[in-house]
Amino acid sequence: MHTESANPHLTVWFNDAFVPLAQANVSVLTHALHYGTALFEGIRGYWEPNKQELHLVRMREHFERWKRNANILRIAIPASVDELCEITAELCRRNGFRSHVYVRPLAYKSAVRIGVPPDEHDSYSISVLPLSEYLSGKKGVTAAVSSWRRIQDHAIPCRAKICGAYVNSVLAVDEARRNGHDEAIFLNEAGHVAEGATSNLFMVRNGRLITPAVTDNILEGITRASVMELARKQLNLEVVERSIDRSELYVCDELFFTGTAVEVTPVLAVDHRPVGSGEPGTITQKLRNLYIDATRGRLPGFAEWLWPVYSSARSIDKIA
Ligand code: PMP
Repeated sequence: MHTESANPHLTVWFNDAFVPLAQANVSVLTHALHYGTALFEGIRGYWEPNKQELHLVRMREHFERWKRNANILRIAIPASVDELCEITAELCRRNGFRSHVYVRPLAYKSAVRIGVPPDEHDSYSISVLPLSEYLSGKKGVTAAVSSWRRIQDHAIPCRAKICGAYVNSVLAVDEARRNGHDEAIFLNEAGHVAEGATSNLFMVRNGRLITPAVTDNILEGITRASVMELARKQLNLEVVERSIDRSELYVCDELFFTGTAVEVTPVLAVDHRPVGSGEPGTITQKLRNLYIDATRGRLPGFAEWLWPVYSSARSIDKIA
């Protein structure tokens, strides 16, 4: 995704103020840095040159998920969802972005001391960076079932984007890449398919769309929900949430990852076995195109998913 360091002149939201990234620093003794006690989000914004507008995608839902899941770690995010949306849109405007962007909210245990027991010192920041394509969404990717198991809800809940939990994803994607694959697929402790390292997984079998249930140790993805809605409303497809066996990955007709960063990315092979014909599947491509159109403001009926940054500009002096 990003191979270069972020521009230090970027304006970010840090400790209730808009500041240059170079000034948005934490102590080396910060609780979250030592114990992983932080929670992040990832939100996309798409620049639409024809409309000269930047659309933030399902921003409310992302901030709602962030605030809800902060309850798991008992991190307080005092700002309302509306305020968080306004701050993010203002960040885009202050940085003058006229490109696709990626928004990274981060809430963390901010006490500066040694010791695991958490206290009530909580902080949060919001950064927005320019972004292009993450995985090769058009062409498709190869994947391998990881030798690492998905973390369990009764150990570290993965329905929340808990920073410490992402060690699980880092190990899996590193293994997959070093073994020559693009992505990892996690099984959970029950041996069922959970998700990718940073994405949810869908399978097509006999014209039905199947994805693991939210109780199968997955992140409750917002793109997952979007794709399910598009499949039902636009393609009249049956969508089933149920456990998936590993060997179903080898016999299914189509397979794809979903996520804010990866969008809808076809999986062309799993464990060196071609998925279907080995080319992006028909239903996958239809869903990918629908998702692209909906998130760029080109699909009627889905405008409520989008927050237009420039035409929604209003004064937020009260929070600046
Ligand atoms: N699973 C994991 C582990 C992820 O990190 C992500 C990316 N946020 C997803 C699924 C997809 O979630 P979303 O569609 O909300 O981005």
